[in-house]
Amino acid sequence: MSKCFNCNQDFERGKFSPDRGWICEDCLGYKIKGHNDWVPQRIKDDRQKFKRDLIQPYREGEFSKEFKEAYPSQAKEMLKSGTITKDQYKGAKEVWK
Ligand SMILES: [Zn+2]
Repeated sequence: MSKCFNCNQDFERGKFSPDRGWICEDCLGYKIKGHNDWVPQRIKDDRQKFKRDLIQPYREGEFSKEFKEAYPSQAKEMLKSGTITKDQYKGAKEVWK
């Protein structure tokens, strides 16, 4: 099981891109059918931007304040489901500086 870099969903079947990581079949199909700018050079150009835009919920075990602020409802959902503890939620740090 992997997470798609595009929609951030877990998926069973997908394709690995050395530039961006895993992409699910849904996104892959969408990109190929709907976006003709889906070419390797474009991916390379976007690589830096992509790294800045992507916010992961954790870094080295610390819950990310950036993630909490960018995705407040998702962060609350993680708290509710027990993915993160109350302490982690409250003590979220800016880990991507
Ligand atoms: Zn996807």
